[in-house]
Amino acid sequence: MSLHEFVIPVHDLDAAGKQFRFPVPAAWIRASLSDSNGLDDKGRAIEAPTPTVENDGVLDVRASKSGNDVVVHGSLKAEFSIPCGRCLKPAHVVVNEPISLLMSPREAIRGSKSEKDDYEFSLEEADVTPLDGDTAVLDDVVRDELVLQIPMIPLCSEDCPGILPPATELTSKSGEKAVDPRLLPLLSLKTNIKE
Ligand SMILES: [Zn+2]
Repeated sequence: MSLHEFVIPVHDLDAAGKQFRFPVPAAWIRASLSDSNGLDDKGRAIEAPTPTVENDGVLDVRASKSGNDVVVHGSLKAEFSIPCGRCLKPAHVVVNEPISLLMSPREAIRGSKSEKDDYEFSLEEADVTPLDGDTAVLDDVVRDELVLQIPMIPLCSEDCPGILPPATELTSKSGEKAVDPRLLPLLSLKTNIKE
């Protein structure tokens, strides 16, 4: 895997926190959405859409230190298009989501899980993002957030009529002039067979 895109150096942080503003490059968004092909965390197949991304997004966060943990609050903004579920025209998706996470050193998460079995939920279930060494890497969080924003059935508009019947079916009774030129060879074949 290449270098991470959204990295916060932990040693620079204090309890008061620091503001970070990362551009989310269009190419990165495109790659993240395309890479979503595979299985989700419950083993269900995810089919990657073919995204069109024209603009960079922006990740705006404030990160602060709380003991060994890092608290991150902010927002993610991005836009992309994926094929409409009914007509395949571009369906616009606007992402404007709050980001809020608690990051703990990976060792601490593992330790608390094995030692405290009587806890009602583990840290992992409470949505703690692991912190590796001296850096807080937000790539996975941003990627997950983008993928989550893809609707089950993306629509170009609420009242999308879906794919209209091919032009030949609509016009065959009124004449052959309106036939899609690409279908003309087929039509002449049909006429020849009749004759
Ligand atoms: Zn549509």
